[in-house]
Amino acid sequence: MDSKEFRKNAHDIIDWIADYMDGVRDYPVRSQVAPGEVRAKLPDTPPEEAESFDQLMADFKDTILPGVTHWQHPRFFAYFPANVTPESQLAEMLISAMGINAMLWETSPAATELEEAMMDWLKDMLDLPRAWDGVIQDTASSATFCAVLAARERATGWKVNETGLQHAPMMAFYTSAEAHSSLEKAVKMAGLGRVSIRLVPTDKDHAIQPTALSAMMEEDRKAGIIPAMVMATVGSTSVGAADPLKAIGVIARANKAYFHVDAAWAGSAMMCPEFRYLLDGVESADSFVFNPHKWMGVQFDCTAHFVRDRDTLVRTLTILPAYLETREGTRVKDYRDWGVQLGRRMRALKLWFVIRLRGLEGLRAMFRNHVAWTLDLAAKIRETDGFELVTGPNLSLLTFRVLRQGMDKEEQDALTEKLLAKVNDDGFTYLTRTLVNGRPVIRFQVGQVQTTKDDVMAAWRRVAELEEDL
Ligand SMILES: *Cc1c(COP(=O)(O)O)cnc(C)c1O
Repeated sequence: MDSKEFRKNAHDIIDWIADYMDGVRDYPVRSQVAPGEVRAKLPDTPPEEAESFDQLMADFKDTILPGVTHWQHPRFFAYFPANVTPESQLAEMLISAMGINAMLWETSPAATELEEAMMDWLKDMLDLPRAWDGVIQDTASSATFCAVLAARERATGWKVNETGLQHAPMMAFYTSAEAHSSLEKAVKMAGLGRVSIRLVPTDKDHAIQPTALSAMMEEDRKAGIIPAMVMATVGSTSVGAADPLKAIGVIARANKAYFHVDAAWAGSAMMCPEFRYLLDGVESADSFVFNPHKWMGVQFDCTAHFVRDRDTLVRTLTILPAYLETREGTRVKDYRDWGVQLGRRMRALKLWFVIRLRGLEGLRAMFRNHVAWTLDLAAKIRETDGFELVTGPNLSLLTFRVLRQGMDKEEQDALTEKLLAKVNDDGFTYLTRTLVNGRPVIRFQVGQVQTTKDDVMAAWRRVAELEEDL
C-alpha cells in the first residue's frame, strides 16, 4: 500500500469511525453472537494473493462487528469503562504512525520526557506527593506485579533476585477479599504462592479493619514470617469500597511492610477535591496505581504507576546487557528498568491530548455528572417495588437485587440471576454480576464518556420492565 492508497483508505476508516461514534447507540450493547459463530465465518487458511481493502472492510462489517461488545456504547454500565475519547484516538493515531519503542531515553527522548511531565501533571491533578516518581505501565496488573516484586526484594535485602526463593524466608502479603484478583496473580507469578496471601476481615462497608490487619501481622512476625506488603484498595472492583489508607499506612510502617494502593478505577475521579478525601493517607504509600484507561478517557492501555522511592523499583527490575548501555547513563530515565516489558509503547501522548483538549474542568464535570446521576439512580431503586439497593453508591457504582415479599433468599437470588441474564440478552443495556456477602447482586456503574442522564434512566426503566415480566 503506497501513501496515496493509504490516504484514501484512511479517510474511509475515519469516516467509518465518526459514523460509529454517532451511531453506536443503535447496536446491542453486549454482542449477541453464540460461541463459535465468528470463528465459523473466518477462512481456515490465509490468502496467497493480496486481497482488496474494500473486501476486507466489508468482511469487518459482516463478520467482526456482530461479535463486538460495544464498550463505547452510552448504555454500557458493566465492569468499569474503557473509555475512548476522540481526543485520545487522535493521539493514538500519531503514536501508531511513529511506532516508537520507548524503552530507553535515547530511543525517543520526547517519549520519556513527555512521560515524566505527564506523571508530574497527574501528581498535581490528584494531589499526590510531589517527590514521587511515576511511570506509565500497560495495566494495573503489571504495576501491582512490580509492587509485589519490589516488596519481595525489599523484605529480603534484594537476595531473592540473586539466589532465588530456595533460601528465602516466608513472607506474607495482606489485603482483603475485596481486592482485585491481580494481587493474587502477582503473588503467584512472584513465586510466593497463595499461601502467602492473607485476607484481612472487612467492616460493613467492605473496608479493611486496621486492628485485624495489625493483629495478623503480629501473629505472622511471631511465627517468623515477614510481613512483606499490604495492598489497600480505593474503589474496589466489586462494590467500590475504599480501605482506610491513613490507619493502614501507620500499621504498614510499624511492621516495615511495603504499602501499595490500588485505585485503578476510582483514581481518575480524585481530581475532584470533593472526592479526594478517599485518598487521605496515600502519602504514606510506597506505590500507587490508577488507570487513566478506565474512567478518564485515555484509551486502553495507559496505567499510571507512582512510587515513593524509585531506587527500590529500579533496583528490583534493572538489567543492563551491553547492547542497552547508552552514553547518557544515569543522567536520564530509562523506563525499561521500571516495569516488566523491555519494549514500551509511547503512551504519554494520549494523556497530553486528553488533558489539554478536555481541560481539568472538562474532566471533573464528567466525573461529577456520573456520580450525581448514580445518586439519582439509587433514589429510583429505593422507591421501586421489587428491588433492594444493596451497596453504594460509592462514587458512580452501586449494586442491587430483586426483593420479593414472602420469598426466601434462594428464590430471590435465582430471580436476580434470571433478571441479569434477561437484561444482557436484551441488549439495550449491559450490567455485571457480583457477590456481596455471598449473595448475587447486579452492579450498575456509570462511567462511559458519552453517557447522558437519560441513558441511565432509560436503562433503569428497561431493567424494571424486565423485572416485571420475570
Ligand atoms: C480494573 C482493575 C484492576 C485491573 O486493571 P488492569 O489495568 O486491567 O490490569 C485492578 N484493580 C482494580 C481495583 C480494578 O478495578
